[in-house]
Amino acid sequence: MSNSFNGNSITKEGKEYCGKCNGTGTYKWGASVNGKPSNVGTCYSCQGKGVMTKKDVKRNDYYWNYCARII
Ligand SMILES: [Zn+2]
Repeated sequence: MSNSFNGNSITKEGKEYCGKCNGTGTYKWGASVNGKPSNVGTCYSCQGKGVMTKKDVKRNDYYWNYCARII
C-alpha cells in the first residue's frame, strides 16, 4: 500500500486512477468470508471505470467535503 487515497496516479489521458477500488471498478467492503469479500459492488467514486475523470474528481471532492462531514 504505497498509494493513499490522495496519492492517486494520473493516467496519460489526465484521468486519475481510482484509489477506492485500485482501478478495478469494483468496490469491496465488509468482512472476508472464505477469502471473498461479503459485499461487492460497482465503485461509486469512479462509477465502475477504474479511473476518475475531472468530473468524477470534482463530484467526489464535493461528496467528501460536504456529505462526509455530516456523518
Ligand atoms: Zn473506483
